Amino acid sequence: MMNYVDFKTPASVAEARALMKELGPQASPVAGSTLHVFLRDESPKVAVDISRLGLNSIDTLPDGYRIGATSTVGDLQDFHAPGWVLDRVAREFVTQPIRNVATLGGSIIRVFPWSDLPIPLLALDAVMEIEGDETRRIAAGDFFKSQPFHHLQSGDLLTAIHVPALASGQGFGYHKERRTTTDFSRCSVAVWMALEDDRVADVRIAIGAAVPMPCRMKAMEQALKGKKPTQSNFESAVQAGLDEGHWKGLHGISNEYARHLASVIVVDMLHAATDEAKGDAV
Ligand SMILES: Cc1cc2nc3c(=O)[nH]c(=O)nc-3n(C[C@H](O)[C@H](O)[C@H](O)COP(=O)(O)OP(=O)(O)OC[C@H]3O[C@@H](n4cnc5c(N)ncnc54)[C@H](O)[C@@H]3O)c2cc1C
Repeated sequence: MMNYVDFKTPASVAEARALMKELGPQASPVAGSTLHVFLRDESPKVAVDISRLGLNSIDTLPDGYRIGATSTVGDLQDFHAPGWVLDRVAREFVTQPIRNVATLGGSIIRVFPWSDLPIPLLALDAVMEIEGDETRRIAAGDFFKSQPFHHLQSGDLLTAIHVPALASGQGFGYHKERRTTTDFSRCSVAVWMALEDDRVADVRIAIGAAVPMPCRMKAMEQALKGKKPTQSNFESAVQAGLDEGHWKGLHGISNEYARHLASVIVVDMLHAATDEAKGDAV
């Protein structure tokens, strides 16, 4: 548990950032505050509430969506618009009471084996917006290379996440393998695919839980490009790329089983993305 000695409620991003800079390492931004039961830090901290800074809207852009970092997972679930897929992921996120308070930003700054959202953000090639002395954008591939909080300096805030919308001829699939709906994941997979003339024009495959940090499976992606979206092509590309993963079995499964699980789920999600890209999704 965290040792909070004070709680501040700034009213703007500028005020929050000034406060965090002034407090230095003592400042601890809090959004939904659901992670704090998992964190162990005995040093005195001042909680800086960032949930009232106006960072909770989902805005439509010409090619996708800009999601404010304090939008809750419940907001992602309730939002419906053309090419929007994060509602499907949000429904897999543990229970409704936690979805109602946990935020998108808080769910991706510190990544755990059970974290759902980094995986679709990698597959969708999302871009994170960080406001600091220098405002910058970091693509998901770089953002999740190590624990994302390393990208933040004192006073920096993750303010928004840009997610492209699915266009015609594109499809998406997300699956989280667990024993019960509230169980932790053993392997989570997201696939984004673009089809052209019944061939895979482009594809992004992201895996989480069964590997130490969520990551793209680039060898599989490469092996699929230009191929017809068939079971045998999917199976051979997945088998050819499996050695790229540092497979890690969690919750009683072996590393070998984690690898096998990933190979089965990736093929399933390639089919799900294909069906949607062809307009056949149910
Ligand atoms: C019982 C339980 C089960 C869970 N199961 C799942 C699950 O299956 N899948 C899943 O994905 N998640 C799950 N979660 C949620 C997950 O573990 C985190 O608790 C949650 O995603 C954090 O979101 P939050 O908004 O509450 O963040 P907070 O707890 O408020 O903050 C989390 C961290 O991010 C920092 N932070 C937050 N927002 C920002 C920002 N905008 N800029 C900079 N730093 C920021 C905070 O300082 C803190 O270090 C579960 C949580 C619980 C309690």
